Amino acid sequence: MRALTVIPLQAGSLEVTDVPEPVQGDGELLVDGLAVGVCGTDKEIARGDYGWAPSGSDRLIIGHESLGRVRSAPTGSGFTAGDLVVGVVRRPDPVPCGACAHGQFDMCRNGRYTERGIKQRHGYASQVWTVEVDYGVKLDPHLAEVGMLMEPTSVVAKAWAEVEAVGSRAWFEPKTALITGAGPIGLLAALLGAQRGLDVHVLDRVTDGPKPQLVRDLGATYHSEDVDTVAGKLHPDVVIEATGVGSVVLAAMANTAPYGIVCLTGVSSPGHKISVDIGSTNREIVLENDVVIGSVNANLGHYTAAAHALAKADIGWLTRLVTRRVPLQRAADAFTAGDEDVKVVIALGGSPS
Ligand SMILES: [Zn+2]
Ligand SMILES: [Zn+2]
Repeated sequence: MRALTVIPLQAGSLEVTDVPEPVQGDGELLVDGLAVGVCGTDKEIARGDYGWAPSGSDRLIIGHESLGRVRSAPTGSGFTAGDLVVGVVRRPDPVPCGACAHGQFDMCRNGRYTERGIKQRHGYASQVWTVEVDYGVKLDPHLAEVGMLMEPTSVVAKAWAEVEAVGSRAWFEPKTALITGAGPIGLLAALLGAQRGLDVHVLDRVTDGPKPQLVRDLGATYHSEDVDTVAGKLHPDVVIEATGVGSVVLAAMANTAPYGIVCLTGVSSPGHKISVDIGSTNREIVLENDVVIGSVNANLGHYTAAAHALAKADIGWLTRLVTRRVPLQRAADAFTAGDEDVKVVIALGGSPS
């Protein structure tokens, strides 16, 4: 079968290669791959900046934003042939740490977890893949064209769960949410905010392309002014930060409502320095009981929450997030950014219907 593979840490090694079809083990689903989404992590791996092959292999099959159709399932697994399925990315570390031992592998303490398509496990960008029944999540059948949005949705489902967990430490009835960044993570965070009945605002730099209308179609407000102006006017109860840009992060922290919660989901590269009035930032956080939290990855509970969020979302809106579909044989095209791209996906050849 064909798969999209790289030699980790070797730039220019991204290639569609022939690999042996996986053999379905006990307790596993055999799955025909439909599509994978491409994100910043995949681009980092393709550039040779990140990624680890499984032991005994030179190449890593990439792809962690999966979608497939079950070809064969063990009896009593809850799956049957034809079901739509998404494979979970992370697996607990082998020690395991206390968090992994409790199923909270998204909170792993020792960093020895493994990840499909990223770290020491083959990913899902292949025509056929297998996944342990316990790490497959069933999707509503009407999501066949958009189900690869599930993994990024699990990331924002976790971010919202974190915000709500932190908020519940005292009285908490948030009204206004600001999402910074209108890429797939920001837009999906806005979707989940709108589903919670919040007054959602999304900030991004672009003024054209599909993003402003995608935001408006959620009943949310789109902003492209500078972040200090927008956040300073809104004083949001919740900020979900999805740009990783230092100045945006700081402006978000400095302009919340009292008891404001800022959830950081964007990863920035080190080395960018800006000057900060840390005295006034500290003063605001202390005097308002504000909280800033970092959030990454997702566990099985977040995947289930994401499956529900996608099932009740407008399918036309979700379809518009997928701005480009590239066939596997031209997978390299998915790694060059187009001006109007939101989410680019690679079609793996399995039939969506
Ligand atoms: Zn990703
Ligand atoms: Zn762990």
